[in-house]
Amino acid sequence: MATVSIEQDPSVLAARLARAAETAAAADLDALLISPGSDLRYLLGAAKESHERLTCLVLPTGGRPALVVPKLEEPGFADVPLAELGIDVVTWVDGQDPHAVVADLARRGSAPTRVAVADVMPALHTIPLRSALPDAEQVLAGDVLRELRMRKDAAEVEALRRAGAAIDRVHARMAEFLKPGRTEAEVGADISAAILEEGHSEAAFVIVGSGPNGASPHHALSDRVIERGDVVVIDIGGPLPEGYNSDCTRTYAVGEPAQSDVRETYAVLQAAQRAAVEAVRPGATAESIDAAAREPIAAAGFGEFFVHRTGHGIGLDVHEEPYIVGGSQLVLEPGMAFSVEPGIYQPGRWGARIEDIVIVTEDGVLPVNDQPHELVVLPA
Ligand code: ZN
Ligand code: ZN
Ligand code: ZN
Repeated sequence: MATVSIEQDPSVLAARLARAAETAAAADLDALLISPGSDLRYLLGAAKESHERLTCLVLPTGGRPALVVPKLEEPGFADVPLAELGIDVVTWVDGQDPHAVVADLARRGSAPTRVAVADVMPALHTIPLRSALPDAEQVLAGDVLRELRMRKDAAEVEALRRAGAAIDRVHARMAEFLKPGRTEAEVGADISAAILEEGHSEAAFVIVGSGPNGASPHHALSDRVIERGDVVVIDIGGPLPEGYNSDCTRTYAVGEPAQSDVRETYAVLQAAQRAAVEAVRPGATAESIDAAAREPIAAAGFGEFFVHRTGHGIGLDVHEEPYIVGGSQLVLEPGMAFSVEPGIYQPGRWGARIEDIVIVTEDGVLPVNDQPHELVVLPA
């Protein structure tokens, strides 16, 4: 797992830690217990995974934080300004019980009655922590940390823009990869290489959904041979070394589309995606963006073929808050970043999706992706 940090600026990390503790206190929590993952990376700028050995940031709402770390993993946090951040380092060695160590630290103030554990903490650690703190109710830390992570600061916005530009460069090269006679897997391998060449640290996902496979939104790759006239959904992305992710979908035709309904149906999708992006502004609700995408698709008779929410937040995780989904009255605020990715999927025939990452600005919206939204007809 990459440990390169986006933010090693101690003042940024100190502010995040302080806000996390404040937000946790407001949620009536006594401590946050954060194991390796995106939440830890957000708070410390690093997230060295230690698997069956517990690493855990203990962030009490009224007291000094501590990082509990296996002695052999301590060097992985050498770049984190722990002393400057006022975080005690408590190491443990094999044979000791790290869950008891965490429990003792969580009790440094008063006996905790409610603690939040990282959403991704494995049961291997949450259950022993429950035994070590039998009087403390466990809740999910994600409900607290999403309040911070959902609102990107200027440096995070710039990181998302760099990620968007990097994946745009891959889409701009699609004619090199996507040709009739090649399998989805062959095309996908070339795209994965290009994702790395254009600056990502990992090709986290590569969807090449050709012909009928395009009608399955999370189809990955297969040995299907791409034919002249196919419509192909390409949904790709991954993190840059600094941690923030790209995610962008474009739909291509390999030569003129073979099916006669492609252009008209695609035009409906394109208009819906544009309408949803244009609806993004501070004060709008998440559900209103979903509706802006869904209504034109439903009005054209394709409602049953748009089978997922309109979008998801993105940052250190590819999928995070805020989710752009019917029923969410979450009010959009500047700094929120998410995908707008409606699709129309006709089972057994073909599918299409258009996806941009957008950022809510002070007075509107900033899309981070700039490749054409039209159906791109590649030479075949
Ligand atoms: Zn997805
Ligand atoms: Zn995507
Ligand atoms: Zn997405």
